[in-house]
Order: sequence, then C-alpha cells, then structure tokens
Amino acid sequence: MKDIATPGRTKDILERHGFAFKKSLGQNFLIDANILTRIAEAAGIEPEDGVIEVGPGIGALTEHLAKQAGQVEAFEIDQRLLPILEETMAPYPHVRVHHRDILQVNLGAFIHENMSECRSISVVGNLPYYVTTPILMAVLEQRLPIKNIVIMLQKEVAERMAAVPGTKAYGSLSIAVQYFAETEKVMTVPKTVFIPQPRVDSLILRLKKRSAPPVHTVNEEFFFRLVRASFVQRRKTLWNNLLHQLVGPEGKGRLLQAFEQTGIDPGRRGETLSMEEFALLANELAPFYQ
Ligand code: SAM
Repeated sequence: MKDIATPGRTKDILERHGFAFKKSLGQNFLIDANILTRIAEAAGIEPEDGVIEVGPGIGALTEHLAKQAGQVEAFEIDQRLLPILEETMAPYPHVRVHHRDILQVNLGAFIHENMSECRSISVVGNLPYYVTTPILMAVLEQRLPIKNIVIMLQKEVAERMAAVPGTKAYGSLSIAVQYFAETEKVMTVPKTVFIPQPRVDSLILRLKKRSAPPVHTVNEEFFFRLVRASFVQRRKTLWNNLLHQLVGPEGKGRLLQAFEQTGIDPGRRGETLSMEEFALLANELAPFYQ
C-alpha cells in the first residue's frame, strides 16, 4: 500500500469520505513522505518507545510514527476524521486514536495511566498555530516525563522559539522555550507540500528537554515575569519596560540598585540580554516581590 502522504492517496481518501477542510483547525495535510520520514527520524524513536501525536489528520504522520514506535497515542479534535483514521490506521493495532482537544487533556495523568511501560516518550505533531505554544509550554512547564518534542509549525513561530539574543526573532517565547529545552531547527518545509497550501512555510523543530534549567533562578515565576515585562515594548529600554511593566514608581530605587549590582546597562533593550543576564537581574529583584 502506498504512503498516505502521497497526493494521489490523500485525495482518494478525502474524496471517498467527502471531507472538507476546516481552516479554523489548521487543517493542512502533508503529502510528501520524505518530510514525514525526517520528522519521525528527528524524534529518534525506538520500538520500545511511545509517541503522543497531536492532530493526526488522516494519519499521514501517524503511519510513519507507527512504523517506528511500540505505542502511538494520537489526539484528534475533529470527529469527522475518526472514521478516516479507523480505516487508515487499521494495519497498525498499536495506534490508538482519541477524539479529544489536546488542550483539554491532562497529559501527566494520561501518561501515568497509559504509557508507563514505554521506555521513553516523545511528543510529535504537525500543529496548527493556535495549539502550538500552549501545548508546548504545558509539556515543558509541567515537566512531564517526555524526552523529545518534534513539532512542525509556522516558520516564523519556530524561528522565535529557537532565536538567540541580538536577533529580531528573540523574545520572551525564545527564553520560555529555551529555559526548558535545547532547540534545534531540523528543516524548513515549503508550503507546496501540503493540501490545501498554507500561506506560509513551516519549520520542523526538535526540542530536547533539559535535565535542569541553564540558569539559576531564585524565583522562577518572577524570572518569567521580568522576561515578559522586558519585551512588552520591544523598542523601549529595559529601564523603561521594567519600571512601567514590572516594579512601578515605588520600585524605582530597587530597580536602579539591581542594575548597579549586576552591571547591566539599563539603557539596553531586552532583545540584547542573554538568559543568564535576565536571571541575574531577576535574582536581584526577586526577594522584594515574593
Ligand atoms: N498530522 C497531519 C499531517 O501532517 O498531515 C495533520 C496536520 S494538520 C496541520 C493539524 C491537525 O490537528 C488537524 O487534523 C486538526 O483537526 C488537528 N487539531 C487542530 N486543533 C487540535 C486540538 N486542539 N487538539 C487535537 N487536534 C487538533
């Protein structure tokens, strides 16, 4: 049987089931098996491993994952895809499809109850924009027992996640992601390998969860508040953003002192600071904001 991810087989499946794409659910299906191979390879899955797939669609990526993993748990929000997946996944009894909105799933409990036998677990998905960041941050922040995350997403968002200081794409999302994981861009995927074609290119991103954060923070929650505040108005200085978005007029003295103690120039913009510098500043101020 041909791969699902070929133009001919995908069209045949969609036509036979009378399927109409829902733009609101980010339904752009991949029709290039080589790209799927790259995604599955990037996840480095072995037969003893389990995979959580977000948004299987008609099963194009699921099929590739199923050929490598011992267990695949796929979460699909669109009920109309269930009969299609039942058909396309019939040769793969170790794939289970769940009709769920992934954002409503308690993944920690799910893994505990269903995937305790797996040697390691990866989260893989070709994700619509609105799901990507929340699901990724949930997986990372909840410190779930997940080794690898391989996601294909809108190129611009992926670039922001992987960005380094001093670049336009660098911001609070870069720090939020890189605090928990090492990021690696696997490849750019042109919009031409999807039906229907999306407006923008995509990028495959691999995230390897860190065993410990790369910087020391005395108060993690405050560190992230300070990072977010630093980028509220990108063109403004750190001083301006932190004064107005974080400490307020009454914190002016403390803020000045924190800059002096850390040797960080308050005239710099947030986009020039490394994660370590953000941590230094946050650690100076945190005791006043517990
Ligand atoms: N994996 C398939 C592929 O690569 O061809 C389909 C990818 S398509 C970009 C995204 C899929 O995610 C769609 O099937 C869509 O219905 C599903 N989806 C969208 N939002 C979802 C959510 N909140 N939870 C689970 N699935 C979702």
